[in-house]
Amino acid sequence: MTVATKETLGFQAEVKQLLQLMIHSLYSNKEIFLRELISNASDASDKLRFEGMTHPDWYGDDTELSIKVGFDKPTRTVTISDNGIGMSRDEVISNLGTIAKSGTKEFFSKLSGDQQKDAALIGQFGVGFYSAFIVADRITVETRRADLSPAEGVRWESDGSGEFTVESIIRPERGTAITLHLREGEDDFLSSYQLKSIIRKYSDHISLPILMRKEEWDEEKKEQIVKDEFESVNQASALWSRSKSEITEEQYDEFYKHLSHDFEKPLTYSHNRVEGRSEFTQLLFVPAHAPFDLWDRNKRGGIKLYVKRVFIMEDAEQLMPTYLRFVTGVIDSVDLPLNVSREILQESRDVKIIRESSTKRVLSMLEELANSEDEAKKEKYQIFWKEFGQVLKEGVGEDQINQERLLKLLRFSSTRTDQIEQTVSLADYILRLKEGQDKIYYVTGETFNAAKNSPHLEIFRKKGVEVLLLSDRVDEWMLSFVHEFDGKQLVSVAKGGLDLDSLADESEKKEHEETEKQFKELLDRMKVALADKAKDVRVTFRLTDSPACLVADENELSGNLLRMLKAAGQQAPDSKPILEINPEHPLLLKLKYDDSQFDEWSNILFDQALLAEGGHLSDPAGFVKRINQLLLK
Ligand code: ADP
Repeated sequence: MTVATKETLGFQAEVKQLLQLMIHSLYSNKEIFLRELISNASDASDKLRFEGMTHPDWYGDDTELSIKVGFDKPTRTVTISDNGIGMSRDEVISNLGTIAKSGTKEFFSKLSGDQQKDAALIGQFGVGFYSAFIVADRITVETRRADLSPAEGVRWESDGSGEFTVESIIRPERGTAITLHLREGEDDFLSSYQLKSIIRKYSDHISLPILMRKEEWDEEKKEQIVKDEFESVNQASALWSRSKSEITEEQYDEFYKHLSHDFEKPLTYSHNRVEGRSEFTQLLFVPAHAPFDLWDRNKRGGIKLYVKRVFIMEDAEQLMPTYLRFVTGVIDSVDLPLNVSREILQESRDVKIIRESSTKRVLSMLEELANSEDEAKKEKYQIFWKEFGQVLKEGVGEDQINQERLLKLLRFSSTRTDQIEQTVSLADYILRLKEGQDKIYYVTGETFNAAKNSPHLEIFRKKGVEVLLLSDRVDEWMLSFVHEFDGKQLVSVAKGGLDLDSLADESEKKEHEETEKQFKELLDRMKVALADKAKDVRVTFRLTDSPACLVADENELSGNLLRMLKAAGQQAPDSKPILEINPEHPLLLKLKYDDSQFDEWSNILFDQALLAEGGHLSDPAGFVKRINQLLLK
């Protein structure tokens, strides 16, 4: 195929949008462009190291990997170059002309136009290469892929306004050089001192040397003279291989940002060397917010695997269970072979050990926040829970071994406060058990309000018994794996056969028996009237304000779960609910003594109860008609 030597192409629409937004919203933090470009250069070198294991010839005689940062005052340029993997012409066009991230469209639709809010969001999204346009009004990239010949070099150039050019060049060196033509007023970056301090601040953890030319003070000319030799600005040793005591909080934070492409600090981290059956180092971070693609199973990030400091692969999902997919970090193993593949990882005994150990580490990190007396840590746990609680709940079903620990980390809304914020732990709940109460009660609903206003709660509210309010999609699924906590059974208040006797006193119990007798005949008639809809009709004492409610038979799926299954297109068993009526409600008393239109009333009671729990009527028009008829009376 022949390629035009020089062609002009347009950026993908999202890139144009990103460029405009970014230049304005990140201006106050403009120096981060250097971190982003160094981070890319470091990734490119990692890739070459990895490929170089099978293609040693790609190195040629240029075997020392490094990143160089330089500047030139006369042309007002700053250049960042690496001798990493480089890019082919096609790669340049797609990498520097489009955004390949999944969820980009959704991301842009979230931007508000409010600069401060958008700046934080753009940070989460990761701006990468394009951030260089904050300080540059023209960028030139020259690159050659390690496996291509010098004649296959490429020059990319753009002023960031909508188009870029690509042309073929001869480039003897492998790798990439990025030259920023600084905007008016950005001359501060044309200083060795300035560049070095930015590199030390953001990029000290980079494991390759970041080189800059040495400078010397010239007494006669009274200025710094740039020399030919290079010196390393950073420590150039893998951060995780250093001892904890030598690493500052800021260095951990910056390392996290490099790994995760996140602008914000992590919530917490854990750094350990593990020796024993398997030898490895783990440095794990819990982010402070969910990435915009948390629900995307192909999301990037996660755990980077190294073997003896050599980068092996990104997002090694075998090293962390799926329910901890929000954790970012590095695992560096001594025992795994360098040529390890994803297939080998799946079977490796060492990987199993690493995974178990890492899982326990993450749980310990979370426990430390959750159980702390320190307000700041407690607050961090609340942030964690809000962002990742739903994902952690998946673990209750997936990870039997750690289930007990996970249950302690769960937080719920409850009738104690009726707040949507989930702050109540199962242990808190148990501390507040009422006398005679030996169960943990919960109600599920499609939304928080549906759960909070459920008629099933009436008797519990009256008696002052706390009930957990569950409305996350994963709750029903999770609950199918948990039956008790700390010896206390977990019981849905929407299940039939709810034994409320332990909450009632003797005289109440007598009264109940009496009432049940009195309503026997009514119940029999209602059963006939509702034969198609209800499996049974019973008297209940759980209601105070509502005339009736639906419950599921003890061994059957709850109405909420059935609706979720159907909504998800799954086969759901066709089970009929039980209608429970409140014998003290005026509607029921009316029905007992005046039975004109008995069938209509029975149907309305049933349909109302279904609506109240968020269900869908099978014949809504019929319901409206019945109501209207009765209203007219
Ligand atoms: P990200 O780094 O988040 O993927 P960027 O916009 O920073 O996004 O970069 C896009 C892509 O361009 C990178 O994923 C990489 O493939 C390529 N790239 C950027 N800089 C370099 C470089 N110095 N050497 C080789 N490839 C690079």
